[in-house]
Amino acid sequence: MLYASGMTLFRLDGKRALVTGGSRGIGLAAATQLRDLGADVILAARDEPTLRAAAAGLGAAWAVADVSTPDGVQAALDAAGTVDILVSNAGGPPPSLPSRVSGDAWQRGFDTTFLSTVRLVDGVLPGMRERRWGRIIAITSLTVGRPSLNLPVSNAMRAAVTNHLRTLSLEVAQDGVTCNTVAPGYTSTDRLKALYADPADAEKLSVRIPARRFGHPEEVAAAISFLATNEAAYITGQEILVDGGWSI
Ligand code: NAD
Repeated sequence: MLYASGMTLFRLDGKRALVTGGSRGIGLAAATQLRDLGADVILAARDEPTLRAAAAGLGAAWAVADVSTPDGVQAALDAAGTVDILVSNAGGPPPSLPSRVSGDAWQRGFDTTFLSTVRLVDGVLPGMRERRWGRIIAITSLTVGRPSLNLPVSNAMRAAVTNHLRTLSLEVAQDGVTCNTVAPGYTSTDRLKALYADPADAEKLSVRIPARRFGHPEEVAAAISFLATNEAAYITGQEILVDGGWSI
């Protein structure tokens, strides 16, 4: 039975979650909520001191791993072992004008944003299919549906991630594995706070957001956590925008 009155909803006891880019920002907020829902969590990121401190705060396992390389992905997968919930996340590509992107920058974006997700998914999918339960969730961006002029690599690579997971969802839905993306809008992580350190700049942007404020990492994490639960078993191939109405 899926639900009977009195049952506890949205628990993840007994599930194991790998969160890449989990040492801060949206990744760390997601890892915290998954842990609070009962999952065992393993964090992967590049910077050991930040990662170690984040993992200690959560009581989570951790692995230093640069997911833009095959070896880094393998290191994260080896450290994680069984993965029931994958949250694929990493830093976003740097800004540029679309006509000015170098070959190297395209390659770095392809490796860090697209191939990292493909490789992580390839690593966890066989086990998920065998166990007939899995949650694949990639963090993308509001720019998938509404490209930002100065983020051409992000716009292209996140659209590729979105469509790859939509395509994969068609193959694996029958195996109990769901594949979805969560697309944050402007979210108050350290990175965004640094970009909009001047209150006047922050104000100029936030008045254009219907909610009239930046989002909190925990609000993006809540969408990720929901998609990870049993209760979201029939939601697949979808993008959930968490953007305060920006995309309307
Ligand atoms: P952040 O920069 O605060 O955190 C990124 C995390 O990824 C860090 O833990 C970092 O160590 C890790 N990381 C970066 N590159 C990595 C790599 N190659 N291998 C392993 N780990 C790596 O970012 P955030 O603000 O939390 O955003 C998370 C994602 O959401 C990013 O891709 C970002 O571009 C995207 N996004 C953010 C916003 C926003 O407003 N914050 C909006 C739209 C999309």
